[in-house]
Amino acid sequence: MGFPDRRAIRTVASALVVAAFAWCGTAMAMASDGTPSSTPPHAAATSAAPPRPSSTVDARPGLPAFHGPTRPPAPGPGLPGAAMLTRPQPPGPHGSTGRMRLGGPAHSATGTGTSAVALTFDDGPDPAQTPKLLDLLAKYHVKATFCLVGQNVAAHPELVRRIAAEGHTLCNHTWRHSLTLGRQPAAAIRADLQRTNDAIRRAAPGASIRFMRAPGGNFTPTFVSVAADLGMASIYWSVDPRDWYHPAGEGDAAHRARVQHAVQRHTGHGAIVLSHDYAQPDTIAAYRSLIPWLKSRYQLVAL
Ligand SMILES: [Zn+2]
Repeated sequence: MGFPDRRAIRTVASALVVAAFAWCGTAMAMASDGTPSSTPPHAAATSAAPPRPSSTVDARPGLPAFHGPTRPPAPGPGLPGAAMLTRPQPPGPHGSTGRMRLGGPAHSATGTGTSAVALTFDDGPDPAQTPKLLDLLAKYHVKATFCLVGQNVAAHPELVRRIAAEGHTLCNHTWRHSLTLGRQPAAAIRADLQRTNDAIRRAAPGASIRFMRAPGGNFTPTFVSVAADLGMASIYWSVDPRDWYHPAGEGDAAHRARVQHAVQRHTGHGAIVLSHDYAQPDTIAAYRSLIPWLKSRYQLVAL
């Protein structure tokens, strides 16, 4: 997919992370919807991270992986028909989480702070999937948040321009999706985030980049602090349908159904929903029905 460096790095990183968590081996977690599901290695670098899940390696090469475990559903009833009438509060100053709920590692944000729901899409832009997602969002007049990987930004600046031009929110997801960047010295973290922001702004001059998401959700206090210095609030999530995870034997239709079920079951008022537009065609397909379903129940906002 024109992304050999990242893939190679990921392979190495994957091996390291898996090795680091070999102790938790094949333990299986039970998702809150009752579906047996193994969860990926997580936040090796975060002391404030949730309990470590079991390790799983995505079977498909070159795909985004290693996002954290599903967290408890966001508060709120999430009742059908409970369409939101209130406007979300504007975000705080750059680097501030404002009223957002800070339940994630290193006090990263896990909720919008309002009754509105935020859809976030990670690891792109992807030349095949991102345009499809943008078309879908435009069809339903929904704004979302895109957490962009710097290498992909450099490869597809025209898509970053389109994301910004269509009113979506931009989020820094580091230059090469390093799962261990948070353990690096502050200067190295700063250089990585700045390089990514520079690429985004080269692609979309004047773009506002108010958020950062650590790859894998591996926030550390230093990571969050450096991001804040650069004007970015750190966002985790409250709903993770594990759309990046393709267990052996799960066909495309079953995968889409699993993602849809997880989002429908766990999303509540104030949720931040994690999904991926990079290399995940089934995610885009799942959202073809999820977007109207969500829109009929929640106000969907970009962060
Ligand atoms: Zn990611």
